[in-house]
Amino acid sequence: MTDPHAPQQILQEVFGYSAFRGAQADIVQHVTAGGDALVLMPTGGGKSLCYQVPAIARHRSGQGLTLVVSPLIALMHDQVGALEEAGVHAAFLNSTLSSEDASRIEREMLSGRLVLLYAAPERITNPRFLAQLDSLHERGLLSLFAIDEAHCVSQWGHDFRSEYLALSLLHERYPDVPRVALTATADDITRADIIARLQLEQARVFISSFDRPNIRYAIVEKDASPREQLLRFIREEHEDEAGVVYCQSRRKVEETAAWLEAAGLKALPYHAGLDAAVRQRHQDRFLREDGIVMVATVAFGMGIDKPDVRFVAHLDLPKNIESYYQETGRAGRDGAAADAWMTYGLADVVNQRRMIDESPSDEDFKQVQRGKLDALLALAEATDCRRVRLLGYFGEHSQPCGNCDNCISPPATWDATEAARKMLSCIYRFHQNGGQRFGAGHLIDVLRGKSTDKVTQYGHHSLSTWGIGADLSEQQWRGVLRQLIALGHVFTEGEYHTLALSESARAVLKGGVQLLLRVPSAAPRRGRGGSSS
Ligand code: ADP
Ligand code: ZN
Repeated sequence: MTDPHAPQQILQEVFGYSAFRGAQADIVQHVTAGGDALVLMPTGGGKSLCYQVPAIARHRSGQGLTLVVSPLIALMHDQVGALEEAGVHAAFLNSTLSSEDASRIEREMLSGRLVLLYAAPERITNPRFLAQLDSLHERGLLSLFAIDEAHCVSQWGHDFRSEYLALSLLHERYPDVPRVALTATADDITRADIIARLQLEQARVFISSFDRPNIRYAIVEKDASPREQLLRFIREEHEDEAGVVYCQSRRKVEETAAWLEAAGLKALPYHAGLDAAVRQRHQDRFLREDGIVMVATVAFGMGIDKPDVRFVAHLDLPKNIESYYQETGRAGRDGAAADAWMTYGLADVVNQRRMIDESPSDEDFKQVQRGKLDALLALAEATDCRRVRLLGYFGEHSQPCGNCDNCISPPATWDATEAARKMLSCIYRFHQNGGQRFGAGHLIDVLRGKSTDKVTQYGHHSLSTWGIGADLSEQQWRGVLRQLIALGHVFTEGEYHTLALSESARAVLKGGVQLLLRVPSAAPRRGRGGSSS
């Protein structure tokens, strides 16, 4: 093949690759020919080539500039550097440029010489910039729009950016210019939202497999010291290897980093509250040195391309499966074996539910968030293949993977239907008996028939449910409660997390629902029994 406009030729000559991967060939062909496309491809799948090759092909045939919209300044910088290195004239416009540099790039763009221009989304609404695009468009030199990280346009996605909403303007103003939107995560609802907001109804949708076969998924139950669990996991599986540990709060990030460091690991904190210089230093060390464990909030990760991250651990539950998938996807980009490890417990379920309930959003929004959280909880409680569940969430059917905790050692299950009924009726009795509400610790004490001060104080010895659950361990009861909360039959209220029944608890009480639970993992503290919460 010697046609200089042929995608295959460009792939070899410019990028030095011998063949397209997966759906790339189809996407490139479709986009080069001027079709609109929505590309869903996992991180590391090779999304960039899906617009870079068409951009070059179209520029070579005289169609002018491709505008790439991206929210990630660091990434723009890297990509432009790599393209220029490969002999492709590319540039970026963002707030970090001096005005001289910006004017120089604008001149290059207007001359028609520039092949790819990367810009942040806020640039699109800049009148001066739009006038320049108008000028190109009038001369037939506006070739293609590529919208990277397209999920940012959706409030259902995990990284909504309001500036992305303005991107529909591109289509309204230049309806004849083809567009390709790309993202690494989008479940059905986010996908539909991207299509609606960017007016991509006519676009062909390309969905690649989201499977990351080299990542081993494991979700373990929290014991009394999740940090120790984490440390054991790192020591046993990833001594001296690079990894990311996600925590929910800044404080927990700092505490955990300090604690791991004291335990002898090279751990660094990262969150948006740290000084920019400190953040930069920690990020640089993570990228350059071996064996750094970055303890971070979700502020860390987007646009950081380190191929040999050997594990991603979660000490707190993420918001939903999309976030979980995105965060764990930062492990093993080089294709070598990597771990996605999470520890989770009752408090995680309660916290995430509460964060949704107490957020200022409207009820519809909360309802969607609850649905998404439920899907994640189902993944965490699953007794079958995690990957089948995870891929299933993104609409992909698969077979048990043999490379997740549940496949490797199938968890024993027990029928918790009866126990669930006992627990629900105990909560119901509390309520009947004076309208008082109680938390998890007391509930489990009553079920197990313990004579604590509180039991005496409220006369709970005399409840018909006192001691009806002495046959189960405290941990088993916590599992039942977690599951009941995860399923929405029980909810918690107020600062003391008191428990109340929801409408759906009725069906369980009546016996219409079967509950199969994991037998608690061999937690070291189980035998001690006794003390609550
Ligand atoms: P994404 O944006 O989907 O996360 P990238 O576009 O950054 O992925 O590509 C991930 C890596 O795979 C890059 O190092 C890229 O050069 C490489 N890559 C992409 N396509 C091919 C291909 N057809 N052949 C070989 N390497 C490829
Ligand atoms: Zn599996």
